[in-house]
Amino acid sequence: MNNIYDVIILGGGPAGLAAGLYAGRSCLKTLIVEKGQDGGQIAITDEIENYPGQIVEGESGPSLIARMTEQCKKFGAERVSDMIKSVELEGEVKKLVGAKGEYLGKTVILATGAFPRPIGCKNEGKFVGKGISFCATCDANFFEDFEVFVVGGGDSAVEEAMYLTKFARKVTIIHRRDELRAAKSIQEKAFKNPKLFFMWDSVVEEVNGDELLNTMIVRNVKTGELTTVEADEEDGLFGLFGFIGMIPNSGLFEGIIDMERGYIKTDDNMRTNIPGVYAAGDIRVKSLRQVVTAAADGAIAAMQCEKYIAEME
Ligand code: NAP
Repeated sequence: MNNIYDVIILGGGPAGLAAGLYAGRSCLKTLIVEKGQDGGQIAITDEIENYPGQIVEGESGPSLIARMTEQCKKFGAERVSDMIKSVELEGEVKKLVGAKGEYLGKTVILATGAFPRPIGCKNEGKFVGKGISFCATCDANFFEDFEVFVVGGGDSAVEEAMYLTKFARKVTIIHRRDELRAAKSIQEKAFKNPKLFFMWDSVVEEVNGDELLNTMIVRNVKTGELTTVEADEEDGLFGLFGFIGMIPNSGLFEGIIDMERGYIKTDDNMRTNIPGVYAAGDIRVKSLRQVVTAAADGAIAAMQCEKYIAEME
């Protein structure tokens, strides 16, 4: 039975690392499997201002994650870098099959996260973190008194655009149709907001800038007309936020576990419909996807694993 872990955690973002810390600290034999670098979405986030206690000057996503990783190691969580190809989650012993090996566990925590759907314009990758953002809660501050554009027309885009009006001088929603998808109640508030403007039937084709984003080409999908949007000369940059949905990393679990629109359904204790299998962080059906909520999920899931194992024995 030595090669069977108490807990296998799939994913090394804040949810997975918090789960690793709590499981390791509870003396559970713990393995974290991560395919790439730790951190998930925050590994590419320059500044983290909204994690409680995080007021360290110059703290970045990677430095916060490095400390979380170190803390996991300190409490004995083992690590493997592998890409899991298939999972067998039913039964008392769960099996994860990776490119490098097979991993057996009494419990599994799925913390594979989600990522924002890219805007899909030319040069997008060059300007993520340099004008392009997918998180208003994280980055609105940096656009205090600047001009900001938001792509999307759903609840997220409109609510986040309204949030951004508290910081930015002017916010323009760029939507591919001529009516919003967002709930009517949200739309009503948006249309009354004097700082909020709309570019209908429009998509962003291309973004450009020197170091920071300062130009974009927007195409009217009905007329084909191209408009070049340039940053105010004094500003030198503008913000572009994408809210056109998230893509959950849940393909591996399709048909195996209960999901809603690709997100894993859990109860308040992170339990999925399969005994001994938990989900934590952005991969769950939930209302707020942030580092603090991911870490909290991970802690709860790990404590539930301990309880489940104790009840099994
Ligand atoms: P969503 O409802 O799927 O809306 C995505 C928006 O992005 C749509 O307006 C869509 O345009 C647009 N879009 C999609 N792909 C695009 C592309 N390639 N290029 C340009 N635009 C594109 O996503 P969401 O707003 O993130 O919301 C996700 C779920 O969470 C929804 O069920 C929503 O109700 C819920 N939510 C609820 C609240 C709340 O109740 N307060 C807040 C946030 C989210 P089309 O309209 O043309 O399809």
